[in-house]
Amino acid sequence: MSEPRTAAAVPAGTALTTQTLIAARGLKKTYGSGPAAFHALRGVDLDVRQGETLAIVGKSGSGKSTLMHLLALLDSPSAGTLEVMGQDARTLKPAQVNDIRNSAFGFVFQQFFMIPNASVLENVELPLKIGGVPAHDRRRKALAVLEQVEMADKANNRATDLSGGQKQRMVIARAIVNEPRVVFADEPTGNLDTATGQVIEDLLFGLNESAGITLVIVTHDEDLAARCSRQLSLRDGLVVAQEAGA
Ligand code: ADP
Ligand code: MG
Repeated sequence: MSEPRTAAAVPAGTALTTQTLIAARGLKKTYGSGPAAFHALRGVDLDVRQGETLAIVGKSGSGKSTLMHLLALLDSPSAGTLEVMGQDARTLKPAQVNDIRNSAFGFVFQQFFMIPNASVLENVELPLKIGGVPAHDRRRKALAVLEQVEMADKANNRATDLSGGQKQRMVIARAIVNEPRVVFADEPTGNLDTATGQVIEDLLFGLNESAGITLVIVTHDEDLAARCSRQLSLRDGLVVAQEAGA
């Protein structure tokens, strides 16, 4: 376990201000309109800080995935503002949004979004391909991250043939192949048995510890949430509690 982060533990010369990567103010999201309108988020304020591990918790339907999708620029809010690495999301052109998503963010979602008939290696190379990285470098980087998640021996297997835990490892490899600032994970251990979930959890926290990657994790799992440096609790589309954790 790491020591509590106190001011005294910060080495001399280190800036004491923690950089805010994503700042959300008054975020609202309404699905549908008229009498069928559903207010999934009803005004959420949140700062995601560089290097933190943030858990978003709450009952099913409380708006966790909706909030994560907004923070990750996968969807637009109905109201409120979002600043991503100093830029107002409303001013970003679609190409800039794609660029941030592809180069600064990594995604670990339950719906794996795999290219089904492609190999593990091709799936992991995808963000690099989108980013225009030449084939030779793509291969080298993809193999390096597959090594990191202990899946190098599965590089040429068909992605669809993998077990749940192996798919999740592949998805993590793909999420980090571009060396992102933030990894967003939605119930990353939700479909896995306890032992495999633990491996995936350790992988994610290892990225935070070794590479300083910021983690934003939606989870039902109390142990996983407790391991995060902060927990944000949602109920009916509102933040009801914020706690500092591990
Ligand atoms: P959580 O991840 O906490 O389970 P979600 O953010 O997925 O919750 O959903 C919050 C609420 O918004 C739920 O009641 C859900 O049914 C509703 N919702 C989510 N996505 C849509 C959508 N595309 N259209 C209509 N309602 C939606
Ligand atoms: Mg969800």
